[in-house]
Amino acid sequence: MSDLASTLTEDQLQILKDTALDFALSHGLVVRPPANDTNSAATFGGVINAPVSIFPTPFPINAFNDAVKIQPLYNQLVHDIAQDDAFLKEIMESLSTVDDFVKRLYDLYITVKQEGIAQPASLGIHRSDYIIHLNPGQDFSEAKIKQVELNTISVSFGSLSSLTGDLHKYLHATTGYFTDKIDDSALPVSESITSIASGLASAHQLYGSKTAKVMMVVQPGERNAFDQRWIEYNLLKNHGVVLIRKTLAEIADQGRLDPKTKALYIGDQEISVAYYRSAYATTDYPTEKEWDGRLLAERSLAIKCPTIAYQLVGAKKVQQVLATPGQLERFVKDPEAAAQLRASFTGLYPLDSSPEGMAAYEAALVNSDELVMKPQREGGGNNIYGKDIQTELRKLSAEQRNAYILMDIIRPPITKNVLLRKGELQRADVVSELGIYGIYLHDGRKEIRNDNGGHLLRTKGVESNEGGVAAGFAVIDSLLLV
Ligand code: ADP
Ligand code: MG
Ligand code: MG
Repeated sequence: MSDLASTLTEDQLQILKDTALDFALSHGLVVRPPANDTNSAATFGGVINAPVSIFPTPFPINAFNDAVKIQPLYNQLVHDIAQDDAFLKEIMESLSTVDDFVKRLYDLYITVKQEGIAQPASLGIHRSDYIIHLNPGQDFSEAKIKQVELNTISVSFGSLSSLTGDLHKYLHATTGYFTDKIDDSALPVSESITSIASGLASAHQLYGSKTAKVMMVVQPGERNAFDQRWIEYNLLKNHGVVLIRKTLAEIADQGRLDPKTKALYIGDQEISVAYYRSAYATTDYPTEKEWDGRLLAERSLAIKCPTIAYQLVGAKKVQQVLATPGQLERFVKDPEAAAQLRASFTGLYPLDSSPEGMAAYEAALVNSDELVMKPQREGGGNNIYGKDIQTELRKLSAEQRNAYILMDIIRPPITKNVLLRKGELQRADVVSELGIYGIYLHDGRKEIRNDNGGHLLRTKGVESNEGGVAAGFAVIDSLLLV
């Protein structure tokens, strides 16, 4: 496979480009062009192909199975941590003194908690992201998954992931440019295009009103709207449930709570589930109005996906604290389950005033080549790498450092692929990041669902530190299990 990408002739590349582009446009594997794109397609409301790879990327089957197997454990872990007020308090209070955004979110959590939580149920649609790690001299098949992060809000590309798997299966069947020994079962298509809708349907059903609708909380001018639309279409087609799209500002303007039940109404429309595909970045709250919209939804009887508590559990600081000895084990009592989760951790270090934090700080000032420094932010483009870590550490006060964590860089094997972006092909040396979706529903007393919800593979050029597709670094890929 990897040799093939580099030996393709120009004619073969042209055929791949034309067939892949037509498939993408016919199947909704598309995004909106950037707002500043002045080409005529954009002017007429047109779309461009979602950035994808042409070939699926070889991925060790054992590593994939490990990631799938532990997803229900991660789903349950998020829920259990979200119930532990004291644990969240300790972490969030220390972050709040140095991070205004975390403070705002934590204040919201406190406010709704003090008022009394109207809706006891929680819906989680998570994605745990991994890069595979190989020890020197190890065979590719022995690679182990190492967790990059656990996302608990607004996980994207569930739909486009499935469609990219379909694209690769189609190219495999029609072009003959793949090595001929690939069995269809080695190309697993992700079920995420339907699993996310099914999670929303389960929560809608639990809410219990036939006339209510699901609300997707969206960013104004979303370019990745088609990934989201597939969820809406599948929710209607497979479950008979209607989904409406509202921004935080629209919720503030059009929303109200029933004074007795706290049911959320947008105009005359009752909302069963508030599903966030926004509300995770500082830029999602340009004014107080957006915070008002969030607070209204959070106070309401609607089932939140995620709850504010789940969102807080997704903080990188929580990931780092869990990695310290004994902390994960506080939440995961089964030793085998805890060991499986722990095996997916890489080195994580605090930057606080503890002895471990001071040691990590001193060590990073001397050598930061194998580290990444992360603030409590989501959406890509926020991390600091290499020598920049030292520059940044010198600028920050001891207190300010506490807003960040340090993590060992995971260095995956490099493969070759051909990437299709904005209708153009590009050969590249690439590395990949696997994401496993998790679907979890709890009614406040018992677990209703705890499922694996399919997968995502994102692939980027080796020269890029960051991996976001929406941020323009990566493409959507699929797995060739080997
Ligand atoms: P975000 O919440 O912004 O997505 P991530 O922790 O996922 O933050 O970091 C963004 C990107 O940075 C990842 O997709 C990955 O490409 C890269 N990255 C993050 N942590 C590591 C790591 N430990 N090793 C290698 N690359 C990393
Ligand atoms: Mg994230
Ligand atoms: Mg990420």
